[in-house]
Amino acid sequence: MEKALKKYQETNEKLRALGLAMFLNGWDTATEAPRGSMAHRSGQIGTLSEMTYRLSTDPDYEAAIETLFQHREELDDILHHEIELARKRLVKMKKVPIEEYVAYNRLMAEIYPIYVEAKQTSNYALYKPHLLKVIEFQKKYLGWEKTPELQGYDILLDEYEPEYGTKEYDAFFKTLKERLVPFAKAVSRKKLKYNAAFTKKTFPKEGQREFAKYLQTVMCFDPDRTVIKESEHPFTSGNGCTDVRITNHYHENDLTSAIFSAIHEMGHGLYELQIDPALDETNSGGGVSMAMHESQSRLMENMIGRSEVFWRTHLPKLQELFPKALGKTTLDDFVKHVNRVSRGFIRTEADELTYSIHVMIRYEIEKGILSGRVDVEDLPSVWNKKYKQYLGIVVPDDKRGILQDVHWSQGSFGYFPTYSLGSAYAAQIYHAMAKDVDIDAAIASGTIRPIADWLKEHIHRYGSTKYPKEILRLATGEDFNPNYYVDYLIQKYSKIYGL
Ligand SMILES: [Zn+2]
Repeated sequence: MEKALKKYQETNEKLRALGLAMFLNGWDTATEAPRGSMAHRSGQIGTLSEMTYRLSTDPDYEAAIETLFQHREELDDILHHEIELARKRLVKMKKVPIEEYVAYNRLMAEIYPIYVEAKQTSNYALYKPHLLKVIEFQKKYLGWEKTPELQGYDILLDEYEPEYGTKEYDAFFKTLKERLVPFAKAVSRKKLKYNAAFTKKTFPKEGQREFAKYLQTVMCFDPDRTVIKESEHPFTSGNGCTDVRITNHYHENDLTSAIFSAIHEMGHGLYELQIDPALDETNSGGGVSMAMHESQSRLMENMIGRSEVFWRTHLPKLQELFPKALGKTTLDDFVKHVNRVSRGFIRTEADELTYSIHVMIRYEIEKGILSGRVDVEDLPSVWNKKYKQYLGIVVPDDKRGILQDVHWSQGSFGYFPTYSLGSAYAAQIYHAMAKDVDIDAAIASGTIRPIADWLKEHIHRYGSTKYPKEILRLATGEDFNPNYYVDYLIQKYSKIYGL
């Protein structure tokens, strides 16, 4: 067992070093690398990926995991959990025939440019045969990975959010369907009145970058351990809790887009910054799951960043940076603008209230596809029917319908629901935090320090040493309950819209 532990840890150290090279490459590719460098670089990345693959499938490493798994009761809690997850991954990987794995990776590389072209030209027929192949693989995969505990779509859902399957998600989305869908329809029949003149102004990027720097202090985004740069799409990346990086994209004709992207990514980043530093030397560092990560970004973006008290505190600074464009904007105008509801076609542009309805539609469709109840032939019409039913809008073309998300062309089935689950976690976490922390007073004090401290103590420090369900239970004292989310939304938007 001692030998196995040594092998396990030595290999992890090497894998983490390769991970650093891959992270730096990914970051550099997205932010600064000259476009002309890609061809030469891609060969080197290929080599790095191959080294990573070889190392993580090394028979001695696998044998070490197996030995440690057999003796798991003798391990400490952190290692016990880690080995359980490592073994699960290993067992799953071995069930996929190597030639199928290679063929699938080839398909993934081929389909992306086809997807992009199909989206640009709104041509579902072009995409359909390739999507069909992805789905065929997914179905085969579900056959290989079937166990007495997990079958069908549940296998994929569990990969993105452990211990969550159709039973949990069905109950979650049923609550949304019964309570949120009718409420969102009622809200969208009302018009929000405010002076939107400032939204027609121009906001030079220099001022926006300055405000992002200001937000860094507000959001406790430690400048000694973080970097903010620019990329096409905002994202968070990093290497342990001492190197957390985010990007943003500034639009001169849209001030609020970059502000809320910054707050969102800083929410992800704060999670990584506040994980127990000792975990950086293990495989249990990093946020625990997709949904828990998204809960941290959305709590900051929507519940903190779109609140009235946040802008009562920080609008003066923004006005100081853009005196001409924002001089006449009132707090009420600004807060209403950043909380306006509109039933749109595009998920990534959706407001806080309707966002999860977009996700619910994708969940229902994925479930239908994988159970064979939805035919790929009929996907655009199934999609459009659901948009009419749940959001009351008529999708004009497939570009703004079935072709808008890249996920399925990457084989990511089961990913979407975590976006909504994260928002729902956020509401439950906020509710628990409000019992210990005077949240409004904390925001008004200028930085969110008391909020950040509470999140560190109750969620962040654990990294991925436990299952997300357990962390949620430790933080909130109860199991997941979607009603906190719906209650929060109904209360907030009833007030804004005077319902
Ligand atoms: Zn996010």
